[in-house]
Amino acid sequence: KELLLDVKNLKQHFPVKGGLLGRTINHVKAVDGVDFQMNEGETLSIVGESGCGKSTTGRAILRLDNPTDGEIYFQGQNLLKLNKKEMRKVRKDLQVIFQDPFASLNPRQTIKSILYEALSIQNVLPKAKRLERIYELLEHVGLPADSIHRYPHEFSGGQRQRIGIARALAVDPKLIICDEAVSALDVSVQAQVLNLLKSLQNQFNLTFLFIAHDLGVVRHISDRVIVMYLGKIVEIADKKTLFQSPQHPYTKALLSAIPVTKKEEKRERIVLEGDVPSPINPPEGCRFHNRCPLAVDACKTQVPPLRNIENGHQVACHLVS
Ligand code: SF4
Ligand code: MG
Repeated sequence: KELLLDVKNLKQHFPVKGGLLGRTINHVKAVDGVDFQMNEGETLSIVGESGCGKSTTGRAILRLDNPTDGEIYFQGQNLLKLNKKEMRKVRKDLQVIFQDPFASLNPRQTIKSILYEALSIQNVLPKAKRLERIYELLEHVGLPADSIHRYPHEFSGGQRQRIGIARALAVDPKLIICDEAVSALDVSVQAQVLNLLKSLQNQFNLTFLFIAHDLGVVRHISDRVIVMYLGKIVEIADKKTLFQSPQHPYTKALLSAIPVTKKEEKRERIVLEGDVPSPINPPEGCRFHNRCPLAVDACKTQVPPLRNIENGHQVACHLVS
């Protein structure tokens, strides 16, 4: 499998202004030193509570924000070194599907015009072929051909997400970042959209970076899972390992909140005390220490590094090695 994406030491610190002069008085460390790789054709999920930095990581890869530090190699090219024009070219291979297709689809544009626009921005097809491609895209995502003259509001949430998928697919990308792409949908519709994504992945050799707050949602689609907490990765594992033998106390707590499948043993519910602390002044040492049921003294002062415990399973916890 070819390496498609290589994120190195990614940091995104947003300034916090304050005082009479509006000076920068602090920084929100939204992402604070994140490293991971993706291979072509895989589905990697990033999971964590809101504010853990998962969306910020996605936005940095898309260059919607400029990260504070780090490198993002996509197909061997450091995206953070590209100018706007170069980045526009890369966007053909790097697409996104957002949580709320309603907010990301122009209500005054017909489906035809939305998809036509996606095709013309990247100029991937001669004009004469575009309409044919639009019909093909609708078929790929399971929407009737007569959708073409309708507007986003005439569709259900699940159908709108299919339009979002068609738009991302239009330019034949390599990597699609799905930021909470099914979170707003009913469970049964979620399953349909996830199945659609899976089948499109097989057909077109797509790679997915799935961003979600719920492990249950990404369970079926993921090959590997990253768990983030307060701007840092706490665990990376292939799906089977993560669901059957999670090692980080935070992963265990997240997992204990979702229903088990037939093959799994019942898990005891681990309820974490308190809320996720502010990323402005995250706790010293292990950022999870004030909520961790297993914390020892060292956790308050020493940052646990993300260590490889066995082939590709990485954990950041003093008690796991
Ligand atoms: Fe808990 Fe300490 Fe491990 Fe952090 S390093 S997860 S506080 S045991
Ligand atoms: Mg988010």
